[in-house]
Amino acid sequence: MKSIVVRDVGQPPWFVRLILALILACVGCSYVPPRAFVTDGFTRSQHEALERAASKWNGVLRQPLSLEGGSWTIVPQTPPDFESKGYVGETVHGTRTIYLAPWLDEERFYVIALHELGHVAGLHHIAGSGVMNPNGYAVEFTPGDIEECQRVGACGLSEIDAAKCRLQGACD
Ligand SMILES: [Zn+2]
Repeated sequence: MKSIVVRDVGQPPWFVRLILALILACVGCSYVPPRAFVTDGFTRSQHEALERAASKWNGVLRQPLSLEGGSWTIVPQTPPDFESKGYVGETVHGTRTIYLAPWLDEERFYVIALHELGHVAGLHHIAGSGVMNPNGYAVEFTPGDIEECQRVGACGLSEIDAAKCRLQGACD
């Protein structure tokens, strides 16, 4: 008579769990709150547009985006790539500078500001429609924006990252 052996795997030993935990880095756990400094030269309504854009992000971010000091600088200048690429807003990660063309009309200024502040929050461009699409900025967050936000750990953790965090015991 044949017997079927069912192996009970159970919990892997501690060193296997440790290695797994080290491999599965939890992006959300090391997330730094975004902070930017708005330099002089913007009009009052442009300041308000920046504040509105920041509070729009704060509706979805895990940690609030602040415009009162920080490692990012927002300057009222035509972006360096304006001549060659036609950018009216640009985020230069190396120097942590955000260029916003000060001559934009109010509505467009807000749309561009919302997109660039997304970069401050750590998001990259998305291919589908949304605030973080580089070719057709939206004024409302799309599922694509939120997915990217979760991917970089700026918005609440996605299910997979939450699982990684639980495994590591690093997130609450
Ligand atoms: Zn961009």
